[in-house]
Amino acid sequence: MEIKTITICGGGNAAHTLIPILKNNFQGKINLFLPYKNEADCFIRLVREKKSIIAIKGEKKLYGRPDKISRFAKEVCPDADLILLLLPAFAHESTLCQIASFLKEEAIVGAIPARSGFEYATLKILKDYRQEKVKIFGLQTLPWACRIREYASKVEILGEKRSVGLAAFPHKITFKLANILTRLFNLKIEPLPNMLTLSLANIGQILHPGIMYGLFKGNEGRRYRKEEIPLFYHGVTKETAQILEEMSNEILILTKEIQKKDKYIDLSNVFHVEDWLINSYRDSIQDKRSLQSCLVTNEAYRGIYAPMREIGEGYFLPDFQSRYLTEDVPYGLVVTKAIAQLAEVKTFIIDEVILMTSKWMGREYLVNRYLKGKDVKESRIPQNYGINCIEEIMSY
Ligand code: NAD
Repeated sequence: MEIKTITICGGGNAAHTLIPILKNNFQGKINLFLPYKNEADCFIRLVREKKSIIAIKGEKKLYGRPDKISRFAKEVCPDADLILLLLPAFAHESTLCQIASFLKEEAIVGAIPARSGFEYATLKILKDYRQEKVKIFGLQTLPWACRIREYASKVEILGEKRSVGLAAFPHKITFKLANILTRLFNLKIEPLPNMLTLSLANIGQILHPGIMYGLFKGNEGRRYRKEEIPLFYHGVTKETAQILEEMSNEILILTKEIQKKDKYIDLSNVFHVEDWLINSYRDSIQDKRSLQSCLVTNEAYRGIYAPMREIGEGYFLPDFQSRYLTEDVPYGLVVTKAIAQLAEVKTFIIDEVILMTSKWMGREYLVNRYLKGKDVKESRIPQNYGINCIEEIMSY
């Protein structure tokens, strides 16, 4: 597994962060695939002007720029040994369809973060494009909390996780790949035994829709002045923390039920949300006594506000088209619900959060507690890819 060329797909916060990090740890070539809007033209022009992207983490500065940028997959994919999708989950499939025909037979494609159900969609696309030899992987989360400060020029790394889990298919490449990425990212990448772990242990599906539900249920139509906009993580109340606990407990019950079906499946890395936070952010959490205190005293979450949209005259409304919902419900909670449906496990709180947040988004996933809504076809549930039994899900 020799990595000489890496192609990054996406030009957002994550891509801005990874380019300088890779440049400091990798001698090979970095390509950037930017088919979205006019990102490629803009990026090419700005990188030419500014020379380098600077990633700032406290006092530390890292510099780097991609070697080649294109809006066309055929120009930046055929030589890639490793392709990294640094994209919101709703852009995975369209991007994979654009790159699939140009992949090397031995290429490895991974999503950072994978969110839920990445393997169902990706393996189906690779099969459709007769690229079954291409290997896939996903990371459990993005290792960095990061925000672009100047496009194609400056990004701030607000926080860094201590370690992040990686699952791959076929499973046999997991350890080697985790070692390579540990070196490339300069951060501990932990091997996970299977891709089902990524779906069940997708922490965004709990935190993002769960906190939105806690913040805005009953306040949907409230207009906020700028100074009233709540902090997202640091604004979590005891009641919201309770909802997050219950969502996490339902996922743990589902995990146990799956393990009962096959005692050899290893799902030991599906943690309770509080344990995951402590594990991932140990050094930046000041008070570890409860889930609420872990969230509100986590330095990495400082200054992150609830997503809002301005409606004029200095007023704001909650933004229900934010990725915290449009990504983490159909590519997170709804997938978990689908797995629970196949395992015949009931999920009362998760259902309630899906129902409420999908209403806010103008979507319909659940009807009478079943995934029969009109928008289910746009979610990444296994059933949409012809997978209708829990045993198949357990094999990836
Ligand atoms: P971003 O919004 O900054 O960038 C997304 C990039 O994806 C865009 O620049 C574009 O290149 C591409 N894109 C967006 N919509 C697209 C579409 N419809 N079709 C094709 N391409 C499209 O996102 P980000 O902050 O870099 O986040 C990437 C992933 O990491 C997301 O899943 C996000 O939820 C996750 N994440 C981000 C952070 C963070 O701090 N930035 C933290 C945790 C997780």
